[in-house]
Amino acid sequence: MVKCSFCEKPAVYINSISKLAYCKRHFIEYFERRVRRTLRKYGMLREEEHIIVATSGGKDSISLLHIMIKLARKNPKWRVTAVLVDEGIKGYREKTVENLVNYAERFKVDYVIASFRDYIGMSLDEIVLEGRKRNLPYMPCSYCGVFRRYVLSRVARELKATVIATAHNMDDIVQTYLMNIISNSWDRVLTLTPVRESENGEFIRRIKPFYEIPEKESALYALLNDLVKPEFVQCPYVKYNIRFTIRKMLNELEDKYPGVKYGLLRSLQTITSFLKSPPGIKERHKCIVCGEPSSQRICRACLYRIQLGLVERERVESVLRLAREDKDLERFLRYYNII
Ligand code: SF4
Ligand code: ZN
Repeated sequence: MVKCSFCEKPAVYINSISKLAYCKRHFIEYFERRVRRTLRKYGMLREEEHIIVATSGGKDSISLLHIMIKLARKNPKWRVTAVLVDEGIKGYREKTVENLVNYAERFKVDYVIASFRDYIGMSLDEIVLEGRKRNLPYMPCSYCGVFRRYVLSRVARELKATVIATAHNMDDIVQTYLMNIISNSWDRVLTLTPVRESENGEFIRRIKPFYEIPEKESALYALLNDLVKPEFVQCPYVKYNIRFTIRKMLNELEDKYPGVKYGLLRSLQTITSFLKSPPGIKERHKCIVCGEPSSQRICRACLYRIQLGLVERERVESVLRLAREDKDLERFLRYYNII
């Protein structure tokens, strides 16, 4: 039996880089200390905040919610609301919704569940079928990511939130880093920073308090605190996403050569530090369909909604009328096969 490096109790976790062993109590202390340090290091939270914790109901996001609630209970100027975006994925999302509801009732936490069906007009399962019927070139995860961000931003604005905290951990971030290198999307690499400020104040600031935390630690924190049931549920669309192959590959590399993920995170930090100031959230326009802040004339969610037939005919016709007098808009709509 391996003993905790700080007491006589049995270890539940060994850090593969520092080789330190932690019992349950010392692991929880170590984990919370690291998250608090990350919040301070990157100046993530201000004196007064209404924090939206984006929660899927999975281990990572429930861990984040738990820590933010603990912090907010010590700081009366911080208020926390959990928001779960229910995409409508049969046999998958119901289970994680149950996790959040159980957690929120147990710890008396405010929460909102916002569905694709209410905000987009269809569940993800229906969207995937409709997209295939219309021969749209998108994978399920593309719709899911775009619509999830859209719904989360809208709900956060409705709730007058000041900041959105997401549970992206170090593993998620280095996976995204590799995916963006593969697709030569350097503009996106440069936005993989722990904090994203709004450039014009219209958009809500986003923070990643688990930026330096490995996935196995955030999952273990949820299990040791008995926050979720230790069951494994996987989205049925996972097989279409390159991320999951990259995740497997990185885990194999990490097992053989501990420190690979930290190495990639440091490489990402070096690249983003070359910039004088990291790019903020560039939302210079208001989407002409939904009115939400957007980097393009029409936000990506509305583009997908138009392509899926989810925007009312009169609204689409008024966009087409605008395009007759606006060459840029016309080119944009042609590029997406809308005209
Ligand atoms: Fe959404 Fe894809 Fe993740 Fe499933 S695997 S929840 S479709 S992003
Ligand atoms: Zn829009």
